[in-house]
Amino acid sequence: MTQWPWYSAANRVENGAMALVYPFDHRHGRPPRELKALLGGKGADLAEMTSVLKLPVPPGFTITTEACRSYLTTGWPEGLDDEIAAHVSRLEATMGRRLGDAADPLLVSVRSGAPFSMPGMMDTVLNLGLNDEAVEGLAKQTSDERFAYDSYRRFIALFGRIVLDAGGPEFDDLFDAAKSLAAVTSDDAVPAELLRYLVRRYQQLTGEPFPQDPRMQLRRAIEAVFRSWDGPRAVAYRTREHIAHDSATAVNVQAMVFGNRDDDSGTGVGFTRDPATGAKGSYGDFLVNAQGEDVVAGIRKTLPLSALKDRFPKVYEELHDIFSRLERHYRDMLDTEFTIEQGKLWMLQTRVGKRTGRAALRMAVDMTAESDIQLSRTEAVLRVRPEHVDRVLHPELAAGDRVVVATGLGASPGAGVGQVYFTSDDVVAAVGRGESAVLVRTETSPDDVEGMQVSAAVVTTRGGLVSHAAVVARAWGIPVVVGVSDLEIGPDWFEIDGTTVRQGDWISVDGTTGEIMAGRLELTAPEPPAELARICEWADDVRRGRLGVRANADSGHDAALARENGAEGVGLCRTEHMFLGDRLPLVQRMILAETPEEETSALADLLELQRSDFEEIFTAMDSLPVTVRLLDPPLHEFLPDIEDLIARDAVGSLSDVDQGLFTAARSWQEQNPMLGTRGVRLAILRPALYKTQVRAVIEAAGRRVEAGGHPMVEVMVPLIVTRAELALVRRWIEEEIDAVQVRIGSSIDVRIGTMIETPRAAVRGDDIAEVADFFSFGTNDLTQLVFGFSRDDVEGRLMTRYLEEGLLPRNPFETIDHRGVGELVQLCVERARRIRPDIKLGVCGEHGGDPESIAFFARVGIDYVSCSPYRVPVARLAAAHAILALDAEQSG
Ligand code: PEP
Ligand code: MG
Repeated sequence: MTQWPWYSAANRVENGAMALVYPFDHRHGRPPRELKALLGGKGADLAEMTSVLKLPVPPGFTITTEACRSYLTTGWPEGLDDEIAAHVSRLEATMGRRLGDAADPLLVSVRSGAPFSMPGMMDTVLNLGLNDEAVEGLAKQTSDERFAYDSYRRFIALFGRIVLDAGGPEFDDLFDAAKSLAAVTSDDAVPAELLRYLVRRYQQLTGEPFPQDPRMQLRRAIEAVFRSWDGPRAVAYRTREHIAHDSATAVNVQAMVFGNRDDDSGTGVGFTRDPATGAKGSYGDFLVNAQGEDVVAGIRKTLPLSALKDRFPKVYEELHDIFSRLERHYRDMLDTEFTIEQGKLWMLQTRVGKRTGRAALRMAVDMTAESDIQLSRTEAVLRVRPEHVDRVLHPELAAGDRVVVATGLGASPGAGVGQVYFTSDDVVAAVGRGESAVLVRTETSPDDVEGMQVSAAVVTTRGGLVSHAAVVARAWGIPVVVGVSDLEIGPDWFEIDGTTVRQGDWISVDGTTGEIMAGRLELTAPEPPAELARICEWADDVRRGRLGVRANADSGHDAALARENGAEGVGLCRTEHMFLGDRLPLVQRMILAETPEEETSALADLLELQRSDFEEIFTAMDSLPVTVRLLDPPLHEFLPDIEDLIARDAVGSLSDVDQGLFTAARSWQEQNPMLGTRGVRLAILRPALYKTQVRAVIEAAGRRVEAGGHPMVEVMVPLIVTRAELALVRRWIEEEIDAVQVRIGSSIDVRIGTMIETPRAAVRGDDIAEVADFFSFGTNDLTQLVFGFSRDDVEGRLMTRYLEEGLLPRNPFETIDHRGVGELVQLCVERARRIRPDIKLGVCGEHGGDPESIAFFARVGIDYVSCSPYRVPVARLAAAHAILALDAEQSG
């Protein structure tokens, strides 16, 4: 690198401090693209293109994220002015032009560039360096007054909006008025004298005399970009995308090149492959005689990249050559921005391109077979993100403008479109008439499952990610938005922020983003491409024997679907889910039975039904383990609705049977049902319940053995707190197993274990392991009990606020709370393995399908995760990523 005396004098490196500014051609001693944390994504890739690939990039320099961080904490960094001045001088020398020169001015762009892509969230200023004198110089130098004044007008508008916080829509209004006055429709037809006039008018809008000193313009623009890191848009985006708020942005100052010089100029964006489909071959568009913002703004109609061939044949060839070099170098698909200035091509930006799920899968597989890229299978697995897989598995709303009327928690991914109904019965009736229906309720209960099952989507005003609606809908692959707390529901309407939606009106629900739109948006069908199976198989090769993936399935149908999706067993069969819908009265009869006869009769019916259910599941999962959880009905979800009974009682419409239910329901009513007579506690009061269920399980397994099958049974006890509880229930289970085995004359492979859902059980994992063959962490309840946050209530209002205020880094019901719940899991794993090294350890809470949580579970030595059948492919990929990350950590 040329050493410029004033540059080295200002270079802080010589004084032992880190430089705050690096030119694009700086030799970093390692590939600059690895320095994104310091140079930001844009800066790192500009440096890579300049210093490694030697591509035609307009020269410039990057002010580091460190400088921004320092500005945001303690103000403008000491020494930064000197470093910038030195780099500006060097840039002037390279370009042979000076900032603000009245004869031939250097103009620069000032762009943000964070380490993680934050598209459109922060600010850019173009054409910086123009002032009332320099604009004349530019006009003379280019012999194009119109071009010079148009550049100045654009600069004032950007500087006004971004740096001076002035103008806004008035700039556009004035420009539109000028176009009408000149009776032209295209921007580049506005004559020079009108542009001169606009420049004066724009300057009056900026609220202060427009700064004429280019160095001051530069400092203020840099400061504005620094500040935009903390702008509300950027903060909201980072919160949503879980990007660290202290990573800060770099700022890139780059010599301007002009795509709007003349008709021999232009600007465009290009992808090295199609980012929508992954197909090989370049893709993109461009505009003749335009600046970058014109392409992005979408006002002028762009031409496809292929049209470059006719218009700029030499540039077309050069660009293609650059695309191939970029792909070979990065071994990935790139997206680029380029400008043609009077026939010369300049690369303004490149980065690894964003892509759809389909494209990600296709490109990853294709690139393993391409000789100049030679991606390994492991690399291909890492190229695909869990969200890519998620997207190809569910219908989505087609791209287009969304008018969002309400937002809640996206609790079950995919999108659904339908007419609104407010009761499960109305939904069932509407679907019976051939309509598509969306169920909107305050919250859902087992009473609603028939409606839920046939809904295109479900929306609730209460509830969270692990509340009833979310858990059930996720298992069935139905899109759900929960916790839309500002939505008010009337008898046949709902209202939010002044918008009223009536029964029968169409709405569109995005269960991935949590957005609800009025009207009927178009849906795209889920399209798992052929490459999905390949990637999942390669992922299995990585994780096999180290981290298993099972499914939470409650029926033969779901178990079969789970197996098709690659599940290696059932990690949780919630037997109470077998009693939703029209079977609900059976469980109610059993819970509310007042005499032994009533109980025996209810249990006999229960035995019958469960036996055939289990048989179906064992058939679907033959030779794979099936964990059957004994009944765990939180009573509030399974008792008749007391308020409804009170209302009906008041008008005398209760039958004798209802009266009986009412009395019994009142006696079982609890203040805190989630902490009440659930799980093993109900069984302690009603021992016949678990015994009957075990009988049903073992008899079903016996039938499968008789039919030549290989059932692998795991019986699991929920909500254990002490060793004594499990020891007692284990004895009952063993007695039942023995009795059934004697009766059927064959032995069945059965293990007995427990869920770890209470903090005490986690802490006493050692004691409990003495009487358990396996543990499965029920992280939904464990999170609820560790935080003391009601899993049904906390997410609507409170959690949102906690997340916005930064009181919690993540929603702990979505991603395992490493430092609290996670540490308890880890402690339990260690203690349990000390007592029983071969104890099998799984996770069946909703965290079992969350990629970040899966990474945590892999680290603490969990054997398998279990999630919704629809999520199994995502979990297979995430589990492979987790194992690869672990290996990389251990070897590095
Ligand atoms: C849990 O608590 O994590 C669990 C899987 O059980 P459920 O959600 O059925 O309470
Ligand atoms: Mg639980």
